[in-house]
Amino acid sequence: MIRSLIGVPLLLALLFSCVQKDSPEGSVEVSAASLVVESNKTWKAGKTLTIVFLDGEDWLKDEVIQIANEWTVYANINFDFYKSYELVPSGKSVQIKISFIDEKNRSFVGKDSDRFFAAKKSPSMWFGTIAGQTGSQRKGTVLHEFGHALGLRHEHQNSLRDFKFNLEAMKKYCLEKWGKDEKNCHAEVLDTFSSGKIISVSYDPHSVMHYDLHPDLTDSEEKIGYGNQLSLLDKIEIAKVYPGRMTGEEIVVLHEDQIYQLELVEHYKNCQIEVGSNSSGKTFNFVGLNKHEYRYAYSSRNRADAIANMRADKYCNMSFEELQVFRQDIKSKQDKERSFGRCIVPKASDASKVPLNCKKEFPFMIAEKDFSKTIDHLCYPTFGSAVYSMKRSNYCSKSDQELADEVLLDAAEFRNSRSYKNCYLAKFPETQMTGIVKYNCPSGFPYMILTGDKSDRAVKGCSSRWKNKVKEMRSHPNCN
Ligand SMILES: [Zn+2]
Repeated sequence: MIRSLIGVPLLLALLFSCVQKDSPEGSVEVSAASLVVESNKTWKAGKTLTIVFLDGEDWLKDEVIQIANEWTVYANINFDFYKSYELVPSGKSVQIKISFIDEKNRSFVGKDSDRFFAAKKSPSMWFGTIAGQTGSQRKGTVLHEFGHALGLRHEHQNSLRDFKFNLEAMKKYCLEKWGKDEKNCHAEVLDTFSSGKIISVSYDPHSVMHYDLHPDLTDSEEKIGYGNQLSLLDKIEIAKVYPGRMTGEEIVVLHEDQIYQLELVEHYKNCQIEVGSNSSGKTFNFVGLNKHEYRYAYSSRNRADAIANMRADKYCNMSFEELQVFRQDIKSKQDKERSFGRCIVPKASDASKVPLNCKKEFPFMIAEKDFSKTIDHLCYPTFGSAVYSMKRSNYCSKSDQELADEVLLDAAEFRNSRSYKNCYLAKFPETQMTGIVKYNCPSGFPYMILTGDKSDRAVKGCSSRWKNKVKEMRSHPNCN
């Protein structure tokens, strides 16, 4: 499955992929409308599928179970999960075997899960990359692969689709992004299904079985493919493939209620969605209703992802009482200071004594004990993170004597290595004071390579690290 293509972070594009390993055979009668259903591979309605995890972490298994079961709200089919093979009662046959060890997310289609691998403990479904996905991406991936396991094919391969692929661009994308050769690209993306056993009466671009397709890959002006959830038609049609659980009318009512609930979460408990933008477009984020109190650092390109993250966030879900404790805790930390060796993390109210202005959301810094300067020119969001960095700082643990020795040694080394062929390393403002040079460097970045001729031209810009500059000088053509 590929839900996000060009124009999204590379990570996302890499995360989604799936293939089917089945080979077409036989032909069976029609039972569904809009989904691309391979009807000779669907299970019997009412069946309980035994599903076992072959490996993986517990939290991932729990999430897969929770997400996959959404299909069973609409489809008259049951999932009986076992977290390891040892837990499956002896004599019980297993239909679907899940592994998290793979490079891709993929699944066999319908009964092929059982047919080809019944006797072996080898997987029929893989979630190779979901551990690194966001909650809502995981939801999309799990629903998609379980859709395959229920007998569904890709919706973008529906013969009734209303767009044309940009063939060359798509093949190039297949190869470069997913390592799919032309044959695989045709089989999993481009080709439509037209044989008798494939059922589709209409086309649904909102289906969870549809890849997200960037406009560069098709003749559409807009991206095709949506979100990480079951579309209304996904729900209605799977209920027709596996009849007996919910009627179409019941599904419509339930679906509308779910949409309504989703729209409500623009504000969710203690948090809200904030829309911003950066160089690559719109971003979505969630923040505390009191922004200064809580700001989540991760920006999402996708509103649904931001909402999913917000709903899962501990702060956003805090009760009023918990929030009071949280606030008290912030306040008491801001009223504390902690020192280590030659350094100190001053309490927030003392921040103004240090010559660095930190913003309200990042009020903490590491400073010299006498507040004369900061150690790393950084502002930290929490007292704890500043203390953590302070304790790991080499500088903070050094004595005055060690530091003085180091400065002397550094100066001697610097003097010995500052000249090379046509160039020399200048240190500002020292060199400037000789009157030779018209350059200056900002505080903290005093080193610059100059040519040694009368022009004293700068070879490159200012740096904080003279050793790196020496290396650069020795390899720079102007100096050689
Ligand atoms: Zn797929």
